[in-house]
Amino acid sequence: MAKTTLTTKTMPEADSVAPLMELYGLGFEGGFKINIRSALTQIVDIFRLRLQAGYYGTGDRLPPEREIAEEFGVGRPLIRKALAVLREEGYLIAKRGAFGGHYVTDLEVPTRKWLETVRADNGAHLLDVIDLRMAVETRAAELAAERRTAEEQAAIELAAAQLNHLLEVSLGQAHAQTNAHELHRADFRFHEMIAKSSHSASVVTAMAQIRGLTFLARPVAYKELKGTVEDHSIIFRAIRVQDPHTAASAMRRHLDHVKDSYLRLAGEGDGRGRVDGVEEPFS
Ligand SMILES: [Zn+2]
Repeated sequence: MAKTTLTTKTMPEADSVAPLMELYGLGFEGGFKINIRSALTQIVDIFRLRLQAGYYGTGDRLPPEREIAEEFGVGRPLIRKALAVLREEGYLIAKRGAFGGHYVTDLEVPTRKWLETVRADNGAHLLDVIDLRMAVETRAAELAAERRTAEEQAAIELAAAQLNHLLEVSLGQAHAQTNAHELHRADFRFHEMIAKSSHSASVVTAMAQIRGLTFLARPVAYKELKGTVEDHSIIFRAIRVQDPHTAASAMRRHLDHVKDSYLRLAGEGDGRGRVDGVEEPFS
């Protein structure tokens, strides 16, 4: 491949925008090399992301092989291989019989693996995600306060109420931890409704990216979720009375709390690698 021939005039500063350079394929010695990944890897990556983002939750049945093959425009043998990889990684389990097919597991194995990765870099990855969320979501809350319609306000408040309801139900159960995935999904739904109400397509796209990065099957800290419900109520009230300033600062404060919980998850809470207040869905 020919070396990138942009002049220094048109090139961004190398150090300050390193990730951007990669995005644009600039500044690579000998030219940017296209990463040609196999179709199998791509399909596995997409499904892994869908599972981590909670688009498929524990107990959900995946569409039949035939449908997935149609979706990706590939043959069924390739889909079979991709599903085998996801079974091996602990995301899926195959069942036979009348209700046979591929089902999402309790995600214990991939969650454990994800936590190990998070702890290996002391939560640096999650803190990076929080920086992104701060940037995107404080502005989203501000814009939502200015631009939301009455229907969108109702949807935001419904999402908040659903999380509250789910939390109450799971606190009343002996095995509350089975709902971790569902609780995170409900929490995220509230954030997505605010992003949607910002009427910014780029904000909505950024939120879709963030969703996959936070792994919605991660363990839940029930004590923290009570605080989450309160935080959310301050945010939606500010959006309801169309107060952008308060909405943004309330979102910032909420994400500060999320940051604390991410740090505890990364094992920095008590310095012993244990997560205080987190009821892990496995022990
Ligand atoms: Zn939240």
